[in-house]
Amino acid sequence: MNTADSEEMGRTLVGRGFGFTQTPQDADAILINTCTVRQHAEDKAFSFVGTLREWKEANPNRLLIVAGCAAERTKDVLQKRFPYVDLVVGAKSIEQFPEIVEEALKEKFSWEKDNVGVWPDEGNGKEARAHCAYVTIMRGCNYTCTYCIVPFVRGREIYRPAAAILKEVETRVREGAKEIMLLGQTVNSYRGEGEIVDFSDLLKTVAQIQGVERIRFMSPHPYYFNDKLIETLAATPQVCNHIHLPVQSGSNRILKLMRRNYTRERYLEIVQKLRAAIPNIAITTDIIAGFPTETEQDFDETMDLIWEGGFNGAYCFKFSPRDGTDAANLEGQIDQETKECRLARALELTEDMGRKKAQAQIGQVKEVLWHTDQEGFSRDSYKVELLNGQKTQAGSAQPVNIEGVKSRKLLGRLVS
Ligand code: SAH
Ligand code: SF4
Repeated sequence: MNTADSEEMGRTLVGRGFGFTQTPQDADAILINTCTVRQHAEDKAFSFVGTLREWKEANPNRLLIVAGCAAERTKDVLQKRFPYVDLVVGAKSIEQFPEIVEEALKEKFSWEKDNVGVWPDEGNGKEARAHCAYVTIMRGCNYTCTYCIVPFVRGREIYRPAAAILKEVETRVREGAKEIMLLGQTVNSYRGEGEIVDFSDLLKTVAQIQGVERIRFMSPHPYYFNDKLIETLAATPQVCNHIHLPVQSGSNRILKLMRRNYTRERYLEIVQKLRAAIPNIAITTDIIAGFPTETEQDFDETMDLIWEGGFNGAYCFKFSPRDGTDAANLEGQIDQETKECRLARALELTEDMGRKKAQAQIGQVKEVLWHTDQEGFSRDSYKVELLNGQKTQAGSAQPVNIEGVKSRKLLGRLVS
């Protein structure tokens, strides 16, 4: 989501005549898009803003913009702590980003106006990724998971009109995209208009657009994973056979405290239906370790669910209390050491399972969409690298014989 937002805000600057540079020293403007989902992400972002003080003070004509969720959460404090930041744009204002930047440039940076268009648009790495386009279909979230800051900093759900989504997909395909990643916090709660009532309808319509070879989406919420969606996935060959379906916990007691609105049984039922409907589907998930009041037994149930889910991979996180969320105020916060210990257990299991799943791919033939001339992704989201310096063309898709594994990356040769 943040990559998509960064690209969107970046496009505004490019539209104003800015180009991309490789180093801060060559930059006239730096835009930092921040995350606040866990404290660690926010700390990293702010320490980076701290390192840019010298850059900004070396030339006050430079423009420093801090945007995104951490900017939304800490607005005034941020401006006080880093007075040299020119512009703070919170995540809720992303729709207005073009006008906000326009104002700032007019007020403070008259030099920029005279120079519109003189910087070459180079070195942005866009070409290398041009065949995979992120398309935001909704913003915000109507859930109130008790650990989560997202609804506070991104607001309630707003659905992008289907016509605008389809138009963007067409534009991106014309620009060379082969793969479309549809994005939203609970992407499958999407509601459209006219013929496109829900997310399933949207998937079917996107798949009909000429030139769309692959469709992915992130993140679906288990509550909206109905049978219609599973049937649509199975019947739409453009949709890739990889689903990222965050579960968070395997304990019904904790799921309830998290206000996730499903049980472990319902979650596992979806997994089982997906496996029955879509051959060789890869499923990944998110896990939170050490939610307040979590007992050893609760966490054992999470470990057990990881095992039963047969995941190809998982993002595992230590619970991070976010100010203002209900979970941060719950009694029974788990101490750091216990959280770390549980996180380590989840990581060990998911990584071990991931390695074994990767090993099991040896001998298969997979279609790979090349991001570079040697590396790309299979439909089930494995990173695949060509062996022995074999080369191909970025942006094309070809079958590859999988012959080996390097951690979770697959190694193979083009099928000749
Ligand atoms: N909307 C997505 C999740 C977005 S946040 C969904 O509901 O699936 C991405 C992930 O960060 C979550 O799935 C969760 O595992 C993790 N996360 C969010 N808040 C957290 C917190 N306070 N502490 C630890 N992990 C958190
Ligand atoms: Fe956060 Fe829950 Fe919304 Fe996901 S569904 S963004 S975890 S509140």
